Amino acid sequence: VAKRTRAPLVAYRESIEAAVVARLDLDQALRRALDQDEFFLVYQPICDLASGRPTGVEALVRWQRPGHGVVGPADFIGVAEDNGLILPLGAWVLRGACRQFRRWQHAGVPVRSLAVNVSPLQLADPEFPGLVQGAQQEFGLEAGALTLEVTERVAVEDLYDAGRRLSSLRALGVRVALDDFGTGQSSLSVLRRLPIDILKLDQTFVRDAPDDESARAVLGALLALSAGLGLSAVAEGVETEAHCQTLLALGSQTGQGYTFAPPLTPEELLGWWTGQGL
Ligand code: C2E
Ligand code: CA
Ligand code: CA
Ligand code: CA
Repeated sequence: VAKRTRAPLVAYRESIEAAVVARLDLDQALRRALDQDEFFLVYQPICDLASGRPTGVEALVRWQRPGHGVVGPADFIGVAEDNGLILPLGAWVLRGACRQFRRWQHAGVPVRSLAVNVSPLQLADPEFPGLVQGAQQEFGLEAGALTLEVTERVAVEDLYDAGRRLSSLRALGVRVALDDFGTGQSSLSVLRRLPIDILKLDQTFVRDAPDDESARAVLGALLALSAGLGLSAVAEGVETEAHCQTLLALGSQTGQGYTFAPPLTPEELLGWWTGQGL
């Protein structure tokens, strides 16, 4: 009887131990991954909703983890932020995306803008502006070509400080997008006080809009808000033609999502771009 009542506890302890071991494995594997060249970038087109024409791309990181297949950023960016790897990884992403952008420019692929996701820890790094400026110069990005996507988390520690850092990046010709807008805690005060150019409307607002009047009302209000503040809006998670039509009816112009293209390798993107007749 004693054994039977203890068993669930043992199982529980073992499952915690397994989780700790898995986390340590992940931590160490991540540290090696950069040296071993296991990360790669995919690019998702950002499109004009009415014509479907791409206006730019967003770079998204992937990890080809040996024995695990392709791992998405949701499963390792948080760990990289905890163990400090986010700084070298973020630098690798920025430079890799800018290098690819230059290749497209040279090949005559009309990718006009490049968006790169940036962790709050990168933004807080005093060396970050130098890194951005170095990449712009080395890879010949003109003013306005590079967009840095930040989330409301940048402003959690110090809104004033975040604003100052973003302003100095904008002075380099970088555009700033507020990612996942509306999913955080302090959206409206952050919005008013951060120097941003683009609002990315989270897919949660887009998903139900075609069938749900209240979801549509929220989406319409967010679009009106961004227009009122003189910002451009990019709708995320445009998965269907119905999403696209709903957004157009609400006055939205730009979006990204599976109805246009999923994130693609550079090779796939070239094929997709050619297929668009562009
Ligand atoms: P995000 O910036 O909001 O990126 C959009 C996510 O939505 C991507 O997931 C993309 O694959 C996915 N997506 C695109 N179209 C659709 C659609 O039509 N429907 C749905 N349901 N999803 C769609 P992914 O690539 O897994 O990236 C997840 C998050 O990881 C990103 O969210 C971003 O916050 C973060 N991330 C990605 N790359 C980087 C990076 O290089 N650095 C940092 N710091 N974060 C990154
Ligand atoms: Ca993003
Ligand atoms: Ca987003
Ligand atoms: Ca998101």
